[in-house]
Amino acid sequence: MPNIQLLSPSEARKIAAGEVIERPAHMVKELLENAIDAGATSISLYATQAGKTQLRIIDNGCGMDAADARACFLPHATSKIAVLEDLETISTYGFRGEALASIAAISKVTLITKRTTDQLGVKITYTEDTLSSEEQVACSTGTEFIIDDLFYNTPARKKFLKQDETEWNAIQQAVHAFCFSHTHIHFKIYHNHKQQLNAPSVASARDRAAQIWGPDVADFFIPIKSASITDQLGLHITGFVTNHQFWRYGKTHTNFFVNNRWVKNTELNKALFKGYLGVLPPERFPGALIFFTINQAEIDVNIHPKKEEVRFSKPGIVTTALTNAVKETLNNAVTEHFQAPSVPRCPEDSTTSFMPEMKPFPIQQINNPWPMNEHSIAMPDVFDLEQHPASLPIQKHTAVPQIFQPQEDSPTQLEVTPAATESPPYRVLGQLMNTYILCSHHDELVMIDQHAAHERVLYERRTSFFDEAHGSLLLFPEVITLTASLIQHLLTWQEFFGKQGILFDALGTNEIAIRSAPPQLRGPSLTTVLTDAAYFIEEHGSLDRAAFTSKFNEHVHSHMACKAAVKAGDTLSLPAMEQLIKDLMDVDNRFICVHGRPTLWSLNKQEIEKKFRRI
Ligand code: ADP
Ligand code: MG
Repeated sequence: MPNIQLLSPSEARKIAAGEVIERPAHMVKELLENAIDAGATSISLYATQAGKTQLRIIDNGCGMDAADARACFLPHATSKIAVLEDLETISTYGFRGEALASIAAISKVTLITKRTTDQLGVKITYTEDTLSSEEQVACSTGTEFIIDDLFYNTPARKKFLKQDETEWNAIQQAVHAFCFSHTHIHFKIYHNHKQQLNAPSVASARDRAAQIWGPDVADFFIPIKSASITDQLGLHITGFVTNHQFWRYGKTHTNFFVNNRWVKNTELNKALFKGYLGVLPPERFPGALIFFTINQAEIDVNIHPKKEEVRFSKPGIVTTALTNAVKETLNNAVTEHFQAPSVPRCPEDSTTSFMPEMKPFPIQQINNPWPMNEHSIAMPDVFDLEQHPASLPIQKHTAVPQIFQPQEDSPTQLEVTPAATESPPYRVLGQLMNTYILCSHHDELVMIDQHAAHERVLYERRTSFFDEAHGSLLLFPEVITLTASLIQHLLTWQEFFGKQGILFDALGTNEIAIRSAPPQLRGPSLTTVLTDAAYFIEEHGSLDRAAFTSKFNEHVHSHMACKAAVKAGDTLSLPAMEQLIKDLMDVDNRFICVHGRPTLWSLNKQEIEKKFRRI
């Protein structure tokens, strides 16, 4: 080992700076926070080459006098806290006095600033981490930082910068987050001399979503309605989440704020997605602008050099409250729609739309008598056969409408429960192409995809009962031939299939013989479900056990629902159609099938009248 040497203060600062500023977006975040802490109501950002060559941020905040302008670049120079205890009550973003010192250590900085009370402002330049010039200048009140040549003196860091497009995306995300959390501020952003966003102050985060992502996207956002507020932590959750009709392949439209600070927290993400379970197709992400307020003493933001992460003193309470709030919100939106008479939509809307005003749906809370927990959400492991008249007596479950089995002979008959004779809110007009059920609902013409609807009904029923299912013995065992490894996968999950009413044994290394199966899953459907399950295990088996079990459950259940559901092309009798609609309206997540396709859409009065040019 060579001898220990002390780093020079300037080298040490360059190294430390890397902790705070790894990329231009971090610099943007720090400078925006400072502008906001200074009370700015207008902030403009100009970047060239994604801030690698230059970044300028101009605010109309309180400004600094010459002495502060010089001092602000010193390490640990802050006007925001004096002692550690101040952190418990802090309301500003900054408090460590690190940002400007870090920026000055790794770039060339110019600062122009003036307070309202001063006639003239001051212009200061910092290079090589030292003050290189200072002069009085005429300028407007507020502060302008110009950062040139980021990482010019730390090539190792510069090398890790990504392409301009990636860095610019990160900058935009950071700016957008502040747009959402500070709706009273007018933000303007420019990249390579082109304006990218001009967002004057607005009333709500949803209005910001309209400015940033466009009104079409903002329309999907519904306000969070939540009774789940805990006094204990002073916890409140507000904001907006998207309905079931919106999803993205990434988390680009998801932002969390804790006491108005933009934070990243994987637990919050998980809790959010849990609220959407069964509402969105797998691997799709909703939009969310969620604001938590919580007693400052219950959180720690000082756990990450960039203050991007937050630690809650009682994370379980916060995440459960979030999941419940999301579920409640989605649920309320549905209930409201069905209680309210049909609301006419604005005439300039497109002529047909897939239930655009019908906000989202779901949720276990309405029907599910079991308390929500990890397992009831993620691992619905039952295939409930009680709904199938073929296997159980009808009278046992008059409260649960019976589902029919498609028969060879048409029209397909549905066993109708006594309740189905009540006048239905949906009046069936007929069947179109043996695939869609047409009905009227208030002033709307509603078209229902019979397969998608039935699939959803079966799926929801299965996942909302927690007793084990029973298959019935097959007259002749069904034999499936697959590769040895695929057969082995099925044998590993033999017990799981047993719970779904599917019993089988190995026949040598390449075959299994199925002895028993749920009645609606016979023949080709049964073979398809099991073969598909074997491939699924092969593909995803390397996941950790819990993640796999939940994915597998979801997959098998949705596949079984799909196979057991009435098909497009099946003729349905009028009572069968009425029963199906009634059943659909009874289950959660009724507006999308298990693959994420809509189960129904509507044309409202206004749209119909527009077609006939009555309006
Ligand atoms: P911190 O924000 O943690 O206090 P910074 O290094 O970010 O540390 O800033 C140091 C100080 O410089 C701040 O405490 C503040 O007094 C001053 N300052 C920085 N930016 C601005 C600005 N845009 N307007 C007014 N004062 C500012
Ligand atoms: Mg700061």
